[in-house]
Amino acid sequence: MYIRKIHARQILDSRGNPTIEVDVMTKVDRRKFVAREEVPEGASKGLYEAKEVRDGGKAYRGLGVKKAVKLINTKINSRLIGLELKDQRQIDNILIDLDSTKNKSKLGANSILGVSLACARLSAMIEEVPLYEKFGGRLLLPVPFLNIINGGKHAENDLSFQEYMIAPFGKTFAESLRIGTETYHELKKIIASKYGKAFTNVGDEGGFAPNLSNVEEPFRLIMRAVNKLGYKRKIKLAIDAAASEFYYAHKGYYVNKKYYQGGELVDYYRKLVKTYPIISIEDPFDQRDEKNFAELTKKIGRKVHIVGDDLLVTNPERIKNAIQNKMCNTLLLKPNQIGTLTETLDAASLAMRNRWKVMVSHRSGETNSSFIADLAVGIGCGQIKAGAPCRGERLAKYNQLLRIEDQLGPKARYAGRRII
Ligand code: PEP
Ligand code: MG
Repeated sequence: MYIRKIHARQILDSRGNPTIEVDVMTKVDRRKFVAREEVPEGASKGLYEAKEVRDGGKAYRGLGVKKAVKLINTKINSRLIGLELKDQRQIDNILIDLDSTKNKSKLGANSILGVSLACARLSAMIEEVPLYEKFGGRLLLPVPFLNIINGGKHAENDLSFQEYMIAPFGKTFAESLRIGTETYHELKKIIASKYGKAFTNVGDEGGFAPNLSNVEEPFRLIMRAVNKLGYKRKIKLAIDAAASEFYYAHKGYYVNKKYYQGGELVDYYRKLVKTYPIISIEDPFDQRDEKNFAELTKKIGRKVHIVGDDLLVTNPERIKNAIQNKMCNTLLLKPNQIGTLTETLDAASLAMRNRWKVMVSHRSGETNSSFIADLAVGIGCGQIKAGAPCRGERLAKYNQLLRIEDQLGPKARYAGRRII
């Protein structure tokens, strides 16, 4: 089966910013098949991520994607027509060659990713297999890391750390999601009674965005909810510090209204993991602070997942370097950071071959695509973060995981505690 036509359009993402939607079409026995994918966007983007093409100018504050849409509907469409849909690597390599830059700045990682993902979805559709079957791993339902308090670039508050997540360990994905969601609602009550209702407004990823500045207060609030519900043994904590966003050259890391030097922040994280049941810390340092990433991994990496997001940007070359220099032990996998499905899968398998953990991730600006839910199951990595159990674009992922678990029936395996 081969590609007959590719057509893209501009739509809006969960923050009301323009993004790309791509339809890829084929015909089987004169019947037309169309698959659709949409592209997310980050707010706390890494310096080394592949680049998007955006319009500039006045419309949509310069964020329009009409140029990128045109590139898809002309250049990419004419180059890909007639290609075999089954051969994802060939499609992606052609997209990479057509772009010809190292960071996909000519066609844009946003254009390329939309096409790459839509081709994979169409291929699954015409083969009549679930999308998660296309990724070659051993099927495993992931532990959901629910981001229930938002700070950093995702909220209008003074919290330096960007994400406070809970990882629920039930017997199944559905039970874990229930435990996590009950905790989310209990947390809302606790925040409202301590600080007032206005503190329970939500941030970009659906977590509460209380106007706090002390980075430990969210841990205390969450633990109160966990203890109140009797979930102490079923819930662990995780953070995405997203430290590139609060690092200032020559000054240090701005946390709790003062500046920490790298070594002091290493000690502070060590104290935090002793005080609270934290199993995972993402981007604890600035993306260029490789020395302190390695230092923290050496000190606590046997017990705690040290996750590279801005540090690695889903880029196999950067991952190789980080493996060699023992900078972290977990890859955050975001398809739009690198731009094609094939490179995303290569990044995941490189990490897994080196006995790293992998966590599939959404972006803070999302759409209702549930692609990453299938991706997490299909590579069998055991972890996903897709925000809070709140806001449609976040639930699109968690609900797809409920669907997959239901459809797999007795064959469904939940990652659970084996990820720790
Ligand atoms: C993250 O930093 O892990 C994240 C999901 O946020 P963003 O999409 O803004 O980079
Ligand atoms: Mg991150």
